[in-house]
Amino acid sequence: MNQFTAPGPVPNPGGERPPVRRVVIAGGGTAGWMVAACLSKVLGKALDIRLVESDEIGTVGVGEATIPTLLTFHQLLDINEQEFMAATQATFKLGIGFEGWRDQGQDYIHSFGLTGQDHWTAGFQHFWLKGRDRQLAGDYGDYCLELKAARHNRFAHLPRAGMNYAYHLDASLYAQFLRRFSERLGVQRIEGRITSVQADAASGHIRAIQLDSGARIEGDLFIDCTGFRGLLIGETLKVGYEDWSHWLPCDSAVAVQTASVGEAVPYTRSMAHEAGWQWRIPLQHRVGNGLVYCSQYLPDAQARQRLLDRVQGPTLTTPRLIKFTPGQRQATWRGNCVAIGLSSGFIEPLESTSIHLIQRGIVRLMQLFPAAGISPADVDEYNQQARAEIEHIRDFIVLHYHVTQRDDSPFWRGCRSMDIPPSLRHRIDLFRDSGRVFRTGNELFAENSWIQVMLGQGIVPRRHHPVADLMGDAELAHFLDGIRAQVDRTLAQLPQHEAYVRQYCGVAAAPR
Ligand SMILES: Cc1cc2nc3c(=O)[nH]c(=O)nc-3n(C[C@H](O)[C@H](O)[C@H](O)COP(=O)(O)OP(=O)(O)OC[C@H]3O[C@@H](n4cnc5c(N)ncnc54)[C@H](O)[C@@H]3O)c2cc1C
Repeated sequence: MNQFTAPGPVPNPGGERPPVRRVVIAGGGTAGWMVAACLSKVLGKALDIRLVESDEIGTVGVGEATIPTLLTFHQLLDINEQEFMAATQATFKLGIGFEGWRDQGQDYIHSFGLTGQDHWTAGFQHFWLKGRDRQLAGDYGDYCLELKAARHNRFAHLPRAGMNYAYHLDASLYAQFLRRFSERLGVQRIEGRITSVQADAASGHIRAIQLDSGARIEGDLFIDCTGFRGLLIGETLKVGYEDWSHWLPCDSAVAVQTASVGEAVPYTRSMAHEAGWQWRIPLQHRVGNGLVYCSQYLPDAQARQRLLDRVQGPTLTTPRLIKFTPGQRQATWRGNCVAIGLSSGFIEPLESTSIHLIQRGIVRLMQLFPAAGISPADVDEYNQQARAEIEHIRDFIVLHYHVTQRDDSPFWRGCRSMDIPPSLRHRIDLFRDSGRVFRTGNELFAENSWIQVMLGQGIVPRRHHPVADLMGDAELAHFLDGIRAQVDRTLAQLPQHEAYVRQYCGVAAAPR
């Protein structure tokens, strides 16, 4: 068997399906340890779980902004929030601030909160649109608590899940945290470099991975968490990769960590520049920064320098260059190998969706877990769901690039004029024409996310729903003002974000 050999024909010939008891996780980045944590928590008693990682290779070292679904993952695992936040130096996140995306000097926030109050026939945006026409309404964001709290740098837990939030976290501390969690539940970690993967030509299943130490690790199910390389799913099983760079032009990033200067704001900053954007993620102990860019328009050396020119505070690390191809694997489960994390595909980090996709892959695997043997129907279901999820997220990200008034660089002119997926074209046309947005199925981004970004990027709907016209001016003003006043009353009671984090995680105030 060669190194990383491709097997012959794939399908199980319909005979005996061997049961799954030995699970091998290849890779120990965020993906590998999230898989290990969940598998061991849920099915640990029934499985033998081993995770192989190589300190020498290391992890991608980024991935520090999350979205609210991570709270659900932690609830499934019974993770204590204070312990998690203290261990990962986490802060709270209420959304993402988009600076210079619609046009230079124009900013908006995509918050995690709900905005206003919907009527069953028509979302709040219709009432707001009418109010704006009648000069009775403020900014759309005035009617959203999370958005205003982000702008005013405030945060607190509120009863009845009154604040929808996520975290900024230190990626390497998070992997260590999950490693301790998983090892306590019996996961065996094996240090070593995978030098070859052995697959069975008849069944198309992986039999074992071989390490540089000479150890051979056999398994019934292999989870490929080896990062962009996709050592098992791509290099061994030869599952192809669908390239989306015609829709998502950024293909490079440079990342650097800096010391904290100034307050840690409860939102990720995404600052557009002439060939991409820059992130700023404040943690308790430092700040994560990066420049995402299209290398066709910005050479790597210039990108590196631009990032260093724009960060605040002394740098703590050497800038790290990361190259990527936006897209997805043609199948994320093939034979007895499931790809989770960067090995399964990557959409750039603009809306912090990669860790969410890891989580979704894990939940799906749990729901379809092939304890009694791998069924092609389960595999198909897994792959279909995975594809629908990532395509939905892709459309949402493309929206940010395509709907812009920027024409100050070839990069932005290219984004404005590119073809977009028909599914996205339909959403934009529907909103532009009638202010309507619908969420279907299990889509990650609900109506309010689309509305905030479409308005933020500069789409002004031509019409609103007729139900809003049934309200006279006085009634509409009363309705809008009441919501705004309630948001402001709650906001006034919230503490400053950084002080709240310190008190919540029991950290002494840092000298500045
Ligand atoms: C620029 C950038 C910014 C990002 N920002 C965000 C963000 O803000 N939010 C978000 O949700 N996501 C973000 N992501 C995505 C996020 O970083 C990843 O989803 C996450 O880190 C998971 O990566 P991974 O575990 O799949 O891969 P990796 O971190 O690359 O881990 C791969 C693992 O496989 C091991 N490995 C590889 N080859 C071998 C071998 N031969 N032998 C043994 N072990 C091997 C490595 O040692 C490592 O342990 C970002 C990604 C990029 C590129």
